[in-house]
Amino acid sequence: MSVLFLNREDVETLLPYGECIEVMAGALAALARGEAFQPLRAAHWLPDRRGLLVAMPGGLLAPGDEILGVKVLTVFPGNAAHGEESHQGAVLLFDAAHGRPLAFLDAAAITAIRTAAVSALATRLLARADAGDLALLGTGVQARTHLAALREVRPLRRVRVWSRDAENARRFAAAESARHGLAVEPAPSAREAVAGADLICTVSAAVAPILRGEWIAPGAHVNAVGACTPDARELDTAAVVRARLFVDRRESALHEPGEILTPLREGAIGEDHILGEIGELVIGRVEGRRAATDVTLFESLGLTVEDLAAARHVYRQAVAQGRGIPLPL
Ligand code: NDP
Repeated sequence: MSVLFLNREDVETLLPYGECIEVMAGALAALARGEAFQPLRAAHWLPDRRGLLVAMPGGLLAPGDEILGVKVLTVFPGNAAHGEESHQGAVLLFDAAHGRPLAFLDAAAITAIRTAAVSALATRLLARADAGDLALLGTGVQARTHLAALREVRPLRRVRVWSRDAENARRFAAAESARHGLAVEPAPSAREAVAGADLICTVSAAVAPILRGEWIAPGAHVNAVGACTPDARELDTAAVVRARLFVDRRESALHEPGEILTPLREGAIGEDHILGEIGELVIGRVEGRRAATDVTLFESLGLTVEDLAAARHVYRQAVAQGRGIPLPL
């Protein structure tokens, strides 16, 4: 028996954004139809809070198309200072017939691509058709992949980026302008980055709000990606209150993000403020944007089914192309 080892280069080559967006649509639709199982993830801070250790098990169970697996990763927010990525780990895939291990894949690349692909899917479903003025709050891995993925679903006419470190914003703008042949502009403040923007992605490790509701232009769509734990927030209460709110998964949204838990605790919103899951939008069970002036908000937490569907896609392509290294067990 052997497992197929697939590294970062394999994942990046075999998981282009356009394909990943469709794979995410399928996985989230399966979740909405009840063809998946996914316990809440176990995320534990180290005692000195240097980093998180996270385990995310689950399965996709559509008849004839089943897969089991687990993503295991660490999140060390201070890693950039040492030249390392903040998210590192592995996705392990198992066949669902007999539980046989199939593959071991780099989780950093899968997480980077699938998260941006889900935001792009949410953008395709919720943003105005003419949206194309993008603000990125954050300059890390997710900022880079979000820019690439959003280009797949909307032609971008303007891109602004903000970081709390102006030099990081300048560096990101120069690198991404060259990569995409677009003029990415560094903005001096988050407020100036989002002024008039109709697409906003918050992709930072901020723990206190960096985006205020009063700054968001009518008609904008926001992907809130960075704050995934109860003690972190990127959006203030006003931003959540004024938006038509969609999530990747209700149960996770009611347990994990400070962004939702704080307004709930304050009584500013009720649980019914969550209008639906992205998978429910995909299968047409809920209504998304109703008016051009609506502010729509996708709260992204990241789901195991996304990792498993992305990993399975990479695994299948790798087997078909003879890629990867089989490791005997
Ligand atoms: P990186 O470490 O690559 O980048 C982090 C970014 O956050 C940097 O731009 C950094 O900016 C900024 N930042 C850090 N602290 C603060 C702060 N206090 N205020 C404002 N900005 C800050 O991380 P990733 O890009 O991989 O991930 C970004 C966020 O998204 C993380 O919180 C991560 O946990 C989350 N995430 C969510 C996923 C999901 O599925 N929803 C999946 C993967 C990640 P600076 O230039 O100032 O250092």
